Amino acid sequence: MAYDDQNIFARILRNELPAIKVYEDDQVLAFMDIMPQAEGHTLVIPKTPAVTLLDLPPEAAAYTIQIVQKIAKAIETALNAKGIVLMQLSGAAAGQTVPHVHFHLIPSSVHELGRHAVQMGDQEKIKALAEKIKALL
Ligand code: AMP
Repeated sequence: MAYDDQNIFARILRNELPAIKVYEDDQVLAFMDIMPQAEGHTLVIPKTPAVTLLDLPPEAAAYTIQIVQKIAKAIETALNAKGIVLMQLSGAAAGQTVPHVHFHLIPSSVHELGRHAVQMGDQEKIKALAEKIKALL
C-alpha cells in the first residue's frame, strides 16, 4: 500500500495537528493515544514514512524498538505498571486504523484491554500522565 502523507500521524510529525508528546528525537516520536485502551497508553512511531512494520527498513525498526523499550521503562515507573502490552497492528485486516507504522505501549493486561480506538480519553488526565512519563525520559 502506498504511503499517504496526509495520514494523521504524518500530520502530527509535521506539527500540523496537536499531540501530547512524551519523547522526540530525529528518528522517532512518542505521544499519548487519544483513545486509550488503558491509562498511560502511548504510541511510538518512527519518522520514516512506512505504512506497516513490513514496510519499515530494518535499521529504522531496530532503532524504534530501542526507543519502545526506553518508553516502556518510563511507563513502568511512572504508572507503577505491573505489566505492559506491546501491540503492533500491520494492515487494516489486523485492525490498523492509521496508515503510519506505530507501536502501542499499553500498561495493562491482554485480558483487561479496553476497546481499540473507540472511546476518547479525558485529555487533561492524559496530559497529567504524559508529564509523569516525560519526567523520566
Ligand atoms: P491502529 O489502529 O493500530 O492504527 O492505532 C491507531 C491508534 O491511534 C488508535 O489507538 C487511536 O486511538 C490512536 N489515534 C488516532 N488519532 C489520534 C490522534 N490524533 N492522536 C493520538 N492518537 C490517535
